[in-house]
Amino acid sequence: MQKVFIVGCGAYMDAGYGCPGEWRCLKAAALGEGKFGAPVQVMGFIRCECPGRTIAPTVGMTARLAEVKPDAIYFSTCLVDARPGCPYGSAEDLAKILETKAGVPVILGTHEYKG
Ligand code: SF4
Repeated sequence: MQKVFIVGCGAYMDAGYGCPGEWRCLKAAALGEGKFGAPVQVMGFIRCECPGRTIAPTVGMTARLAEVKPDAIYFSTCLVDARPGCPYGSAEDLAKILETKAGVPVILGTHEYKG
């Protein structure tokens, strides 16, 4: 089973009611729904913090402390599909930076649950 990290938008997780890291990503990961395709083990759930510059070092520290190199990193659906969008850059740009630094694929989105 693949080991993954999930990165959520910390600004939304601080203020949102629409699942600030409570269940959607975790359910989709456990059941292999949405972008996961098959059940995976979530070994880290990381908050992006504005303006996003700490994502790569935070992911690196999570991997070090957890003693796990993830097979992939998933950006949460709330981070990728945010409306209005992140004022600091696109999820695609952030993903490219993280892919280069972490050396693992970054997948845009997690679940496809509505409501
Ligand atoms: S930088 Fe963008 S994605 Fe990251 S927490 Fe702030 S608003 Fe969310």
